[in-house]
Amino acid sequence: MKKIIIADALNPEALEELKSIPDFEVFLKTGMDEEELIKTIPDFHGAVVRGATKVTKNVIEAASNLELIVRAGIGLDNIDIAAAKAKGIQVANTPAATSISVAEHTFGLMLAAVRNHGKANLSMKEHKWEKKILSGTELYGKTLGIIGVGRIGQEVARRALAFGMKVIAYDIIEAKIELDVKQVSLEELLAQADIITLHLPLTENTKHMISEAEFERMKDGVIIINTSRGGTVDEKALLQALQSGKIRAVALDVYEKEPPEDFSLIDHPNVIATPHIGAAAKEGQKRAGMEVVKILKERLT
Ligand code: NAD
Repeated sequence: MKKIIIADALNPEALEELKSIPDFEVFLKTGMDEEELIKTIPDFHGAVVRGATKVTKNVIEAASNLELIVRAGIGLDNIDIAAAKAKGIQVANTPAATSISVAEHTFGLMLAAVRNHGKANLSMKEHKWEKKILSGTELYGKTLGIIGVGRIGQEVARRALAFGMKVIAYDIIEAKIELDVKQVSLEELLAQADIITLHLPLTENTKHMISEAEFERMKDGVIIINTSRGGTVDEKALLQALQSGKIRAVALDVYEKEPPEDFSLIDHPNVIATPHIGAAAKEGQKRAGMEVVKILKERLT
């Protein structure tokens, strides 16, 4: 019998499925800090986390029976992978499960940015009827520049093509894309795109990849969307470019510091902000949960 600890909330249907597996004894305990985790983890063979639980080096050192850590989702920033590897503990994630959820959220933000949905909503709640100042533009016929055209970037491209947009993309690798997407250099993308959306991981190479010099190369009145990772765009430079009028609107789901401490960017009237909810759709979370169950079954039974 293998003992599994669910340390962050898991989709309820996936949890039931996991509990029904006779080889597993499943325990649910969320919100544990490092000290509590160190006390709890030695009993377990498998651990399931999302982003909240920090699986630190100390936790891994205490994990005398642990064979597998599964992250329901993509980012592995909360797991000390090197320490796990050194101890022979496998680490797995569910990278594709929430791609559609994030792509749809990106598109929602894009529509909100061009049609002033955020401002219109606030205005209506102040019991105003500001039709004239809230007119926007269409997506149809505009050029969308996708930076990082992996799983999510390609799902965004698919939706943009359905809206009649021209899609160009920049990636560090020549991606095999079975869509009408032209891969271009970063310089070309910055110069040609009406709307730029980022779908990159945060690495040493992508940190502040979009900063002052890049904003200068963009078209006047460009729109920026970031649902990837805070820090790929330099927030200070972004605010300056908004204040100067270079950028027409910004839509953000991710921030350099989460939750943000400095709200000056978010407070700008032309910024639409959501609190890192790109993957927070029921279907995506169910897909991620079911994939977690499959991984545990395959590797621990
Ligand atoms: P992916 O790995 O499929 O795609 C990322 C792409 O970025 C790859 O094609 C890769 O080659 C490219 N890339 C990496 N470094 C680059 C560089 N220096 N220059 C240009 N291109 C580079 O990842 P994905 O599943 O599409 O996820 C993309 C991002 O979305 C990730 O950062 C992920 O953490 C984030 N994400 C956000 C949410 C959310 O809730 N907002 C949810 C899931 C994922």
